Amino acid sequence: MDPNEARQLVIMGTGGTIAGRAAQAGDNVGYVAAQVGVGDLVAAVPALAGLSLEVEQVAQIDSKDMGLPVWQALARRLALHLERPEVSAVVVTHGTDTLEETAFVLQRLLQPNKPVVLTCAMRPASALVPDGPQNLSDAVSVARQMREGGVFVVCAGQVHGALEVAKVHTYRLDAFDSGEAGPIACVEEGCVRRFRAETPVSGRATRDEAALSRFLAARELPRVELVTSHADAGGDLVRALVAQGHEGATRPLRGIVVAGTGNGSVHEALTAAVNEARSRGVRVVLSSRCPQGRVVPHPGLVFDHSAGLSPVKARLALALELLER
Ligand code: ASP
Repeated sequence: MDPNEARQLVIMGTGGTIAGRAAQAGDNVGYVAAQVGVGDLVAAVPALAGLSLEVEQVAQIDSKDMGLPVWQALARRLALHLERPEVSAVVVTHGTDTLEETAFVLQRLLQPNKPVVLTCAMRPASALVPDGPQNLSDAVSVARQMREGGVFVVCAGQVHGALEVAKVHTYRLDAFDSGEAGPIACVEEGCVRRFRAETPVSGRATRDEAALSRFLAARELPRVELVTSHADAGGDLVRALVAQGHEGATRPLRGIVVAGTGNGSVHEALTAAVNEARSRGVRVVLSSRCPQGRVVPHPGLVFDHSAGLSPVKARLALALELLER
């Protein structure tokens, strides 16, 4: 089939606030996430009626609890659907809390050659004025109009790339931001208006099938912990983690991502403990706790840096890398 003629969309549900329900319609925060099935979410958007859609419930969770099992299920189903010639794109509904992590993992693993559009909501489906239906409608517009592959995030009329996107607000409907890069596009009345080309998310342009197979077969991800440097920081937490690993923990510590202050500076007490961990074989990667900018390398930098990845994405990048060994 000519790829331009493929029109079938798959919409996969994983839960989140977009599928949440509260006892009172006026309650935008006291709800339970992941209550409404993805079929009902789609049925609630009149603009989607008449489109060639398949729906699939892959999971039904609050994304604060996201982890390997759901990522494996998503990656497995996505790989399958993306192979189908009649499928032009896939939309995934997801909670906002860890959306940027799922976007990053899927981009790294799948390197999709068709659009994979993640969307979400900040208000539950039961809200007086829910944002989920508009976001879902916009996500479908993006899925149908994007001409290139990749993992995108659609929220509040903006389209973000998997590399840059981060949740930056606890309550606002436009809770996501792409920092200095800015959004890739916006959606206006169903039309996608492009601002910039997508930034390549990793050095690999094509999918590494062996890495994907290892991920799908893994029973757990290599243990990589995130520690933050701050005023009055110490090394006890890192030393305890390393000691536990050497006491026969089921998941020994394999890596540490340090969210440094500013341009990757780290408190001297924490630096000492992290250096001890490194000398015992723990991989160390340095990111910055600053929400914008990246660690700009300089001769005084004692740890490998995250190449611009945020601390949570650097943690996943290191875990995926360690899985390959
Ligand atoms: N805790 C919810 C989740 O991430 C928040 C949301 O979706 O907005 O699933």
